[in-house]
Amino acid sequence: MKRRTFITLLAVGPVAACGRPAHATIRGLTMGTSYTVELAAPIDDAVRTRLTQLIEVELAAINRAMSTYDARSELSEFNRRQDLGWVPASRGLLEVLDRASQISTASQGAFDVTVGPLVDLWGFGPEIRTRRVPDDAVIERVRQSVGYQHVQADLSAGAIRKRDSRIQVDVCAIAKGYGVDRVAMVLDRQGVHDYLVEIGGELRARGTTAAGKPWRVGIERPVEGRHVVGEIVALENRGIATSGTTEDFFEQDGRHYSHIIDPKTARPVERPPIAASVIADTTMEADAWATGMVVLGPERGYSLAQARGLAVMFVTASGSTFDVRVTDAFRAHLLG
Ligand code: ADP
Ligand code: MG
Repeated sequence: MKRRTFITLLAVGPVAACGRPAHATIRGLTMGTSYTVELAAPIDDAVRTRLTQLIEVELAAINRAMSTYDARSELSEFNRRQDLGWVPASRGLLEVLDRASQISTASQGAFDVTVGPLVDLWGFGPEIRTRRVPDDAVIERVRQSVGYQHVQADLSAGAIRKRDSRIQVDVCAIAKGYGVDRVAMVLDRQGVHDYLVEIGGELRARGTTAAGKPWRVGIERPVEGRHVVGEIVALENRGIATSGTTEDFFEQDGRHYSHIIDPKTARPVERPPIAASVIADTTMEADAWATGMVVLGPERGYSLAQARGLAVMFVTASGSTFDVRVTDAFRAHLLG
């Protein structure tokens, strides 16, 4: 779980021209990136301390369960396992693997948490290594250990299993979204109902801003060295996530290889969109679908999203400008 590439901006600058959006902000670090919680109502020091503590405890538990950057995490232990039998799993890991498997099926395998060995092979994993195009023979060998059908989660039994001992699970493309949902749940339980929660650009809003308006979120454009806001969306009790290909990548022989792998080719997505943003009921779903949509691309992904009623926006490069394509469900959130 490393720093994300794109920032789905919080309600800042001109976006917040209608009034101060938040009265209190809690910030911290998690999952190799930062988190921000904006609250519409002011809070006193005692409440701030309590909320911060509860949020930190929740996030630490998620990291202990599913960080692949921590060799002692529950997921790292599962990845080392050779045994194919069911093993009890924490609630968080169960929920993430269960939803991941549904989205893998729904995205026709574009989203696949078992791409771990390929992510490592291409140099985008936890281990620091030189990034270059691997030999075809090695790619062919490593891809044998990939396939979302080989991981199962049984929610009622509270257990998970692999059906191939070589399987390595990487939840980087869904865990930040899950973390956002969990932090939102902490706030809900504490009776806080007007907030914006963000981890590394994946975000969820509930209620209204201090001015009583829906939260507005600007989606950043990848213009080098500058923060440029593109589309602005209004969010009411929804999550939004963006997956991009312009920051975590390498180039070889004039070709661009990003950290998003197409499980069908075992290679970084060919001619990927610059970014895909997804709005969904939960940020976990938005996060996973955003990655899946980058893999599917603005043609296939768009058709699938329209057919399923998913709110998706694709941004592609068109010379020195951008082409933006939104599904009907996404358009309903657009401002201006
Ligand atoms: P970011 O981490 O930049 O927010 P994503 O949510 O798209 O972006 O996650 C990208 C990460 O997910 C990659 O670094 C890799 O670890 C993993 N990954 C790569 N390709 C896939 C894929 N097809 N399905 C699921 N996870 C993937
Ligand atoms: Mg993602």
